Amino acid sequence: MRLFVGIQMPKEIRDRLKAISFGLAGARWITPDNLHATLRFIGDLDGPSVDDVDTALGGVHAPGFSLTLNGVGQFGRGHMSHTVWAGIKTQPALVHLHDKIESASVRAGLDADRRKFTPHVTLARLKKTPEHEIADWAQSIGDLKIGPFQVDSFQLFRSHLGHGPAHYQVLSEYALEPELV
Ligand code: ATP
Ligand code: MG
Repeated sequence: MRLFVGIQMPKEIRDRLKAISFGLAGARWITPDNLHATLRFIGDLDGPSVDDVDTALGGVHAPGFSLTLNGVGQFGRGHMSHTVWAGIKTQPALVHLHDKIESASVRAGLDADRRKFTPHVTLARLKKTPEHEIADWAQSIGDLKIGPFQVDSFQLFRSHLGHGPAHYQVLSEYALEPELV
């Protein structure tokens, strides 16, 4: 069972992202309903049960926060470019939530994830998209700023892969605490 922990983008944010999701050769755009930020990729469980993970995530106590999307970027360079995304402005409350989810995951029995956390919303996967076309697309968008919007929960998703776009199923939703002001 392929799992990940993330934050669903609200409808008005998905609409804004959808509006910039065009005009790039070789791009496979994310289905608007699937737009999200991944906080922790789990993948196939090997050891702990879904219940173990769910219980551990249910024990995460962290305050809500407001999120702003800033700019677009890419993973990979040149002919290795494979993803374009909208950046998430990093902030202490988001990093705090990420760290809490990471320690809950390890407590549940998952292997530690030591990769650097680069908060983003994936917009498209690329296949043989020339670098200059990515640059042109990014330039046509200009200085992207979406939000701020309130994040008051996060979700445990199951991802169903098959033919066509992935199908995400929300297995559990976890409320965040009232934002600290
Ligand atoms: P597809 O793989 O068909 O393009 P998808 O990437 O949307 O679909 P998944 O591969 O199940 O669906 O990924 C779910 C989420 O986890 C996405 O945000 C993806 O970027 C992230 N993800 C997938 N694999 C990894 C990985 N190995 N490390 C970190 N994050 C990952
Ligand atoms: Mg994938």
